[in-house]
This record gives sequence, structure tokens and C-alpha cells, in this order.
Amino acid sequence: MTRFSHPDAVTSYIDGVFLSPSRDAHPIPVVNPGTGAYIATLYEAGPAEVDRAVQAAARSFEAGAWHGLPLEQRVNTLRRIAALTAEHADELCWLESIDLGIPIAQARGAVTARVIRNFNFYADHLGQAVERAARLDDLYQRYVHRDPVGVCALITPWNAPLMLATSKIAPALAFGNSCVIKTSEYTPLALARFMTLLTEAGVPTGVVNLVNGRGPVTGSALVAHPRVDIVSFTGGGQAGRAIAAAAGADLKRCDLELGGKSASIVSDSADLELALDGTLLGIFANAGQMCFAGSRILVQRNIADVFIERFIERARKIRVGDPLDPRTEMGPVAYEAHFQRVLDSVTPASDMTVLSGGHAIERPGYFIEPTVLLAHSADARACQEEIFGPVATLMVYDTFDEALAIANRTRYGLAAYLWSNRLDESMAAAQRLRAGTLMVNSPMVLDLRMPFGGYKESGIGREGIDSLRNFYSEEKAVAFATCMMPMPMRLGLGK
Ligand code: NAD
Repeated sequence: MTRFSHPDAVTSYIDGVFLSPSRDAHPIPVVNPGTGAYIATLYEAGPAEVDRAVQAAARSFEAGAWHGLPLEQRVNTLRRIAALTAEHADELCWLESIDLGIPIAQARGAVTARVIRNFNFYADHLGQAVERAARLDDLYQRYVHRDPVGVCALITPWNAPLMLATSKIAPALAFGNSCVIKTSEYTPLALARFMTLLTEAGVPTGVVNLVNGRGPVTGSALVAHPRVDIVSFTGGGQAGRAIAAAAGADLKRCDLELGGKSASIVSDSADLELALDGTLLGIFANAGQMCFAGSRILVQRNIADVFIERFIERARKIRVGDPLDPRTEMGPVAYEAHFQRVLDSVTPASDMTVLSGGHAIERPGYFIEPTVLLAHSADARACQEEIFGPVATLMVYDTFDEALAIANRTRYGLAAYLWSNRLDESMAAAQRLRAGTLMVNSPMVLDLRMPFGGYKESGIGREGIDSLRNFYSEEKAVAFATCMMPMPMRLGLGK
């Protein structure tokens, strides 16, 4: 694999340029989780720098630098972003791999293919979108006029930095906004490089700005900034609550895409090989660091022995190692504190047995064995807390009703998976599971035409075209009187 380079210093990108590292800024190490090596320094943006980024976005918005351009030019720019991503895919995947630890062989599909789709999707949409227009009665011609909202604060986590950041940047741009994005302080490299591609593609300077730093410092200054109009957040529940409270205090519209503890139900009618492939992928891809991970695997009792034995056998054969080795199937988890947290979650308890794995792998970096737990109660900690690592929690069920009840017995409601060849089970799951997405006989495949988001504590709002159009724009109802309007009454004609 070609070795690319990365900057030694990560700074804010404002008005189309990276700022010089400031001596006063709090430095944060950027560490390669595959080696444990310190590879760059992130210079945190404090409130003054966040203000500078928001003012740049506000200026560009007020000047109409982006939303004032002809539609065709905006559509072509979105396509050019997609084309430049394809051209630089090897470099972006390499950056994501050394920063996050995602195996390079998976990065093309999970990272750049998704980024390209994000921008081409909205280019297609903009080229075809029509608004509602209606003659509802004899008196008015009415139509919906759509305006951009203004300045968007976009805040994203570390588990899929480029994919999640562009899932917000693309619709924010498509609907004519300017924005400031704050990605995770743990994984800033690929997005920093991507910012220069936006400028190269023709996004006017100041329209998309980047700030880096810790959530309670940089993130909260961004959310609280009075010139920010709306906030889109993807991350954990604790930060989500703080952000929703701050946004609520200022009456800023807020979209929250939060965590999950998704069930993957394996019925005795399932194709066993398919279910094994799907459940393994659902929890060990990206070392389990996926919001929609199928982290609770519920297996029907009469196939449980065979399924569990084969699941463990295959989990033990997963090739864990250097993310830059194209044969690697699973890399490290993303950073040291998270590595400790995942290992702590595997501490044996009376309601849970460790069937396989559960230990760190002796090598530099943050590698954890693919781990399989058996829970004896749906209330076990391993069934209730989002571990966000390569840890599958298995449970055995007898009836399908019981499986649905266990699946719903969580404060989350992001996704659910069903492996079954029975129509009645599939229909019952579709009607009764309390989750924002149900995949039947398939791993997660996101589609921007469909809503994606959570019930319960998995979030508020949906990322999908219908919801995002209304999130990133304002609807204005316009009515033209089509005749000399008879007034309901005439005032002020004299005493
Ligand atoms: P996190 O909530 O700690 O951080 C997410 C982002 O928010 C980071 O950029 C962080 O710096 C920032 N942040 C933290 N506190 C903040 C505050 N008070 N104000 C403003 N910004 C703040 O989450 P994480 O550990 O980075 O990510 C893991 C979580 O994200 C998991 O729970 C996962 O399920 C969830 N996630 C959800 C989705 C989804 O689409 N639903 C997708 C990916 C990840």
C-alpha cells in the first residue's frame, strides 16, 4: 500500500485556509490505534476560534456565496466533490485507517463509497426536486417556497469520521446552508484533508468550516453560539442530552442520532450460513464500533448449540491485525480510554458467561479479541449497555414472542435484525419491534431515500431525504390572490 502523508498539526479550517497552530491552544495527541504511536497534534479551538468559524459561515451565508449560485453550478459542485473523493480515495482511506484503525480492505466500501454516494445523491435530488404547488380554491394560487436555514453546527463522533461528517455536510450544502463542523478530537485526519477537496471542488470559502477539539470546550461553544441556527449531532446519549438542553435553551432546531443496543434475532427457520455471516459482520465489522451493531444476538433454543458453537469457531478465526494489511479483517478499537472501557465491560458477572475472547491482544495498539458472551438475563449489563466494541452478547429464547420482548427490553431503539424464513415472524417483527430500522435477512444497508434514526434513547429525528429536507431548510407557504379579494370586512372607512 502506498504510504501517504498526514499533517503534524491539525488546526481549524476557516474561510478556506488552515489556521497556524496557536501557542495558547490546548494540544491533544492524535494516536494511531494500530501502533499506539503519537502521530500528530490537534490544536483545540477555543470559543474565540469557534466564533471566527461561525462568523465566516454567517458572512458567506449572508452574502449568498453558495445559496445564491445558479442551481446547475451547485449541482455540478456536489458532483465534483464526489469525483474528487473517488480520485483521492486511497489517501482518504489510508488516513481513516491510521486514525481510526478500520481495516484498509473495508475502508473503500465503508468510507469513500459512502462519501461519494452522499454527494451524488443530493446532486441527483437537487436536479429533480419540485415543490408542492396547489390551486386549493378559487381565490388563491399557493406554493411552497423553500429557504436554507442559515448556519448549521454539525457535530460528529469518531467511529466513522468521514462518512458521518459528510452525511451532514452534503444535505447542509444541498439545501443552501453554510456550516461549521466539529468532528471527534480522536480522529480528525481524514476530514481535515477532505476540507481542502471541498474548496478544490468549488465550494466557496467560508461555506464549510472545520473546528477541532473536545466536546465540552469546542463543541459546546459551537452549539451555544448565537449565530448558529440549527444543530445536527451524532454521538452518545450523554453529550446528546447536553446538546439538546443547550439548543433548547436558544430554541435551535436539533437533530440527535444516538447510540444503540440492537437485537439480531436468529430463528430456527433461518438459513444458518446466512445468519452466521450476517451476525458476525453485524458485531465485528469496524471492531463493533457501529451505532447499528447487532450487539445482542438472540438465538432460538433448538438451534442454539449448533449456532453458538459455529459462531465462536468463526469469531476465533477472524484475522485481527494491522489495519493497513489488506488481509486484516478486524483492526484495533479507536483509542486508549475506549479500549479500557470495552475491556471493563467484559468483567464476568453472575448473569453473564464469557464464552470466548475478552482479553487485550499482546501487541502495540488497542487490539481486543473478538469476544462472545452468553447472557442469562435480558437485564444483564452486557444486554443493556452499549459496549461499542468487538463484543457479541448471545441469548437463547424459546418462542418468537419472547424474542420480540427481549429485543424491545432496552432503552435504545436504533436498529433490529431478523434472520428468518417465516413470513409470520417477519411481519410480527416489522409490527412489534420498537426500532427505527429493521433489516430482514440482511446486514445494515443504508439508503438515503429511507429514514434512519432511533426510537427511545437512540435519538430524535431521522437522517433520510424527507426528514433532512425539512431539517436543513425552512418551508414558506406563499399564496397569491387570483382575483380581487373580497375582504372579510373593511376597516377604517370613517366614523
Ligand atoms: P460522544 O457523544 O462522546 O461524542 C460525539 C461528538 O460530540 C464528538 O465530536 C464530541 O467531541 C462531541 N461532544 C461531546 N460532548 C459534547 C458537548 N457537551 N457539547 C458539544 N459537543 C460534544 O460520542 P462518541 O464516543 O464520539 O461516539 C460514540 C457514540 O456515537 C455511540 O453511542 C454511538 O452509538 C453513537 N453513534 C450514533 C450514530 C447514529 O447514527 N445514531 C452513528 C455513529 C455513532
